[in-house]
Amino acid sequence: MNDERAKKKVVIDSGHGGDDSGTVHNGIVEKDLTLKISNYIKERLDDLGIENSLSRTGDELLDQNARPERIQSFYGNGSDVIVLSNHINAGGGDGAEVIYALRNSDTLARKITNELENAGQNVRKFYQKRLPSDPSKDYYYLLRKTPNNETVIVEYGFADSTGDDANLLKNDWQTLAEAVVKGLAEYIGVPYSVKGDNYYIVVKGDSLWSIAKKFNTTVDKLKELNNLSTNNLSIGQKLVITSPAKDTDTYIVQKGDTLYAIAGRFGTTVASLMSINNLSTPNLAIGQVLRIPSVSSSETYVVKAGDTLYAIANRFNTDVQTLKNINNLTTNNLSIGQVLKIPTNSANNIYTVVAGDSLYSIAGRFGTTVSVLKNANNLKSDLLSIGQKLIIP
Ligand SMILES: [Zn+2]
Repeated sequence: MNDERAKKKVVIDSGHGGDDSGTVHNGIVEKDLTLKISNYIKERLDDLGIENSLSRTGDELLDQNARPERIQSFYGNGSDVIVLSNHINAGGGDGAEVIYALRNSDTLARKITNELENAGQNVRKFYQKRLPSDPSKDYYYLLRKTPNNETVIVEYGFADSTGDDANLLKNDWQTLAEAVVKGLAEYIGVPYSVKGDNYYIVVKGDSLWSIAKKFNTTVDKLKELNNLSTNNLSIGQKLVITSPAKDTDTYIVQKGDTLYAIAGRFGTTVASLMSINNLSTPNLAIGQVLRIPSVSSSETYVVKAGDTLYAIANRFNTDVQTLKNINNLTTNNLSIGQVLKIPTNSANNIYTVVAGDSLYSIAGRFGTTVSVLKNANNLKSDLLSIGQKLIIP
């Protein structure tokens, strides 16, 4: 991590406000949409551990003096402060524009541009603009009046576009805002993780205690979730904060999602997602609401000689990727005695019989009784066959 960049702070500026509505077209009111975008970006920068402030939090008029004053009231007028000014364009074009100051390199503007393009928005240009009466100065007052900050203006698209901008701004502005978050994180040098991940990236000064307090959990719970044997943390370390799918019954499909990726994120499988959502194909639509089977990772398995992830996945009716995800494994290597979390899909809990199993041993493992198992599976005898699937109530 680049230490200089990691110290950067961000002031998120919502263009216009109060009596100044900005541009108004197609049901888009610039001052309102810029505030929504700014609030979204604030929440995400908080997630990523990037220090930030909002220039306005409500429908407030800030004039050409008050706005830069407010912006500089948070962290001053240093080059360690990024000012991100959010705007919606008008004038009949289509696509985003990023404007950076004459004093700054194009690195940040280029990163934001790339991420907007990756998110599916066309970018007309990223550029600098000079004041006609004095070409040594920036055209935009906000760039002139924050003279040492790294100030960029992002025009997310044209409210009056005859292309796809109006729809994009109305229905998919989060995707564009997220693209800017990603560009900022890359530029600042902070590990980026997608929204919805229950992860936290350790920053300087953090302790397990302060993180537990921040997320309303306990040190013990954090250690258990992250397989930590000590309280030591390193800057940039990625911590799981809550169990996958905890308190989550539904998930709204985002751009770029696949069933496979969603299954991995929630510690479940494509098959169980398709089954509980009555899907006949794995195709998803953005905005589609999926039911997520409740997953408890309280069940554990102790690795024995000869075990492989593949064999364990089969045994517990899951897959290798799910096991790797919920156990934060980066390789397929296991060590004897290692404790693995096993996803338990309570909506559809199936166990596959292996050699040596008996109803008695299976009942013991799952905290139930032989007669409950026999009833649930309509078994007339205690005999099991290898590969037989049992419903575990
Ligand atoms: Zn504007």
